[in-house]
Amino acid sequence: MHGIHSIPSIVILSAVSLACLTAQTRRASDAEVDRVHRSALLIDTHNDVTSETVKGLDIGPLRQQGHTDLVRLKQGGVGAVFFAAYVSGTYAQGNRAANRAMEMIDTIRHDIVGRHPTDFELALTADGIAAARKKGRIAALIGIEGGHAIEDSLRLLRNFHALGVRYMTLTHNNSNHWADSAGDANKPNNGLSGFGREVVREMNRLGMMVDISHASDKTFYDVLEASTVPPFASHSSCRSLANIPRNMTDAMITALGKKGGLVQINFGCEFLNQKSAETSTWANPKIAEGLRQRANAQAAGEKARAELLKKLTSEADAKMARATLEDAVAHIDRVVKLAGIDTVGIGSDYDGVGCVPVGLEDVSKFPALTRALLEKGYSPADVHKIYGGNLLRLMREAEKAAR
Ligand SMILES: [Zn+2]
Repeated sequence: MHGIHSIPSIVILSAVSLACLTAQTRRASDAEVDRVHRSALLIDTHNDVTSETVKGLDIGPLRQQGHTDLVRLKQGGVGAVFFAAYVSGTYAQGNRAANRAMEMIDTIRHDIVGRHPTDFELALTADGIAAARKKGRIAALIGIEGGHAIEDSLRLLRNFHALGVRYMTLTHNNSNHWADSAGDANKPNNGLSGFGREVVREMNRLGMMVDISHASDKTFYDVLEASTVPPFASHSSCRSLANIPRNMTDAMITALGKKGGLVQINFGCEFLNQKSAETSTWANPKIAEGLRQRANAQAAGEKARAELLKKLTSEADAKMARATLEDAVAHIDRVVKLAGIDTVGIGSDYDGVGCVPVGLEDVSKFPALTRALLEKGYSPADVHKIYGGNLLRLMREAEKAAR
């Protein structure tokens, strides 16, 4: 157990955590939900619709597929979005990662903000987020996902910052030359290498937030030590509730909270619900391996096998257990219990995950979360912190530390 829990609990529990721990529920009126939701500045720190806009999707019109478009962002009362400049690990070979990052940054600046300048505004600072809000615009921010994007060059890192990148996820599912990933069984760097520490310090100096989602546990602890600004997880949840390497252990969450960092809850079913994690082809390697063997046995030739595997995978995923809105609330409760109300936020991973919770199907559904939080006993001030207050505080700390 950690120090704080040895103190008699009644002494340290705030009203909010008492309400949550006793699972006290009440009814919130539509008017109250609406009032609290509208007064909150909802900042979602991870959205992957960019993987579609880079291929030509217009984020403007309502669409039937996916989780994100402008119509639904407005319905959901979303105030700011960190769009992911996601660089797949496949770009790591042959120095193509920085090229891909540039394309992804451009889709945020050109396809999202440039195409809809009265609806979106590129924000580069915490004040910039507030300024966009004042104009009735959604603040668009840029976060690089996959540290291999910098191709081991602090010069490229500085260029990305100059283009508006305000956080970088140190790894994706691949380890790079200086940081190990949670998705890599081999840990070539034993956490963060010496150069990795230089990357983190340069991010601190620039005022770019350090994102430890996707990093290995050892990388996380090394970052906690190396970074002069609290790091954060832009889209991770609690491993004690859904046991996947991408989620954070209770000990990690407690340690992060003590440093003033944040866990931004990921809404992917596998991140929220143990049964989802166990029945998912993505999160359960045994299922994936079984399907691969079936495809190899039943089809001849590489192309036919790949097609069959795709079909089997989508059939299996259609049957996976869904998470629910209540699961998302449980993860918020867990972080609050472990590390306090100042340690949690939202990083939905919409359009980056295949399965989304019942009740939180897309970006338009955030008011339902507001209702659930209020009915669970969270105060309007708590909701404001979870939805964006905490993130603004962290961003300001990063800005202040920058020279
Ligand atoms: Zn991710």
